[in-house]
Amino acid sequence: MPARLLPVDPAAPDPGAIAEAAEVVVAGGLVAFPTETVYGLGADALNAAAVQRIFAAKGRPADNPLIVHVADPAEVEALTAALPETARLLMARCWPGPLTLVVPAAPQVPLVTRGGLDTVAVRMPAHPVALALIRAAGCPIAAPSANRSGRPSPTTARHVLADLGDAIDLVLDGGPTPVGVESTVLDLTTSPPSVLRPGGVAVETLRDLIGPVTLPPAGAPVLARAPGTRYRHYAPRARVVLVEAPPDRVGEAVAGTVRALWDRGLRVGVMVTEDHAAAVPSGAVVRVMGPRTDPAVVATRLFAQLRELDEAGLDAIVVEAIDERGLGRAVMDRLRRAAASAG
Ligand code: AMP
Ligand code: MG
Repeated sequence: MPARLLPVDPAAPDPGAIAEAAEVVVAGGLVAFPTETVYGLGADALNAAAVQRIFAAKGRPADNPLIVHVADPAEVEALTAALPETARLLMARCWPGPLTLVVPAAPQVPLVTRGGLDTVAVRMPAHPVALALIRAAGCPIAAPSANRSGRPSPTTARHVLADLGDAIDLVLDGGPTPVGVESTVLDLTTSPPSVLRPGGVAVETLRDLIGPVTLPPAGAPVLARAPGTRYRHYAPRARVVLVEAPPDRVGEAVAGTVRALWDRGLRVGVMVTEDHAAAVPSGAVVRVMGPRTDPAVVATRLFAQLRELDEAGLDAIVVEAIDERGLGRAVMDRLRRAAASAG
């Protein structure tokens, strides 16, 4: 049976719709809902059978743990064995928001939720729909991104339906998600803390707040502690070709790449910043990512544009690389993975 779609006002969700969705969660079902980052696929985090359904619906490998979402920082106490001081500081400064903290797990968090690890990832999202749903359900909600495993993350309810329409019970449609890339995942069980995945909270912000943090090497395929980063990710069906060039050569490099792909008879789409849109040879399907100097705008459009170009039936998507500063780091992480795994 196809999932039911319930429209909700993202700023002030109707309590009736939220109650209906909460009932599904409490009964062990799956509800997709908007967060400020991307749409999540939620289940009762403490119900192992319900969480198992998330893995089945997504086709997600069992050793890739889920983020547990709470509606209040106090709810984290029951999920963790010991809460580091740094966690308290970051929760006070960055929550609600796109920062996930990996901390030692309490035994009551089912192993399936944490992918068999002795740690658990926790986050308080900054989205009225997500917070209302968690509160109404009365339980923490485990929610990975609501896409088929390996596909670009969903930033609209339509993306969710396209990937998972037949596999889930209900989608709360609160419009496009405001941040557009997933949360930053910070492991607080290492010293210094380590960023396992760059995301919606800039690494620069974390360093200002807590001092040194380590980063995964740019483009690194694997970090054993971040199981999810090991798998095929963010990949449209078309091949993604990332163009990295010095600032004054970007336009030329994008145009050259497009022509080279045309020479091989391929149908080509292009994602470029406003700054270089004029350099794209006419005839290519183009999406403008936003101003090169504003990676937060690029982040909001990234996944939707990858999906749109993919639906246009192209063979290759040429994408302009942006600077790895602020949200640009998260954008480039997703693009590198998309480029590495496409094909
Ligand atoms: P998603 O919810 O699909 O955006 O993915 C969640 C990300 O957080 C994945 O990369 C997971 O591997 C990572 N993650 C979740 N829980 C843990 C944990 N306990 N330790 C390390 N990484 C985690
Ligand atoms: Mg995901």
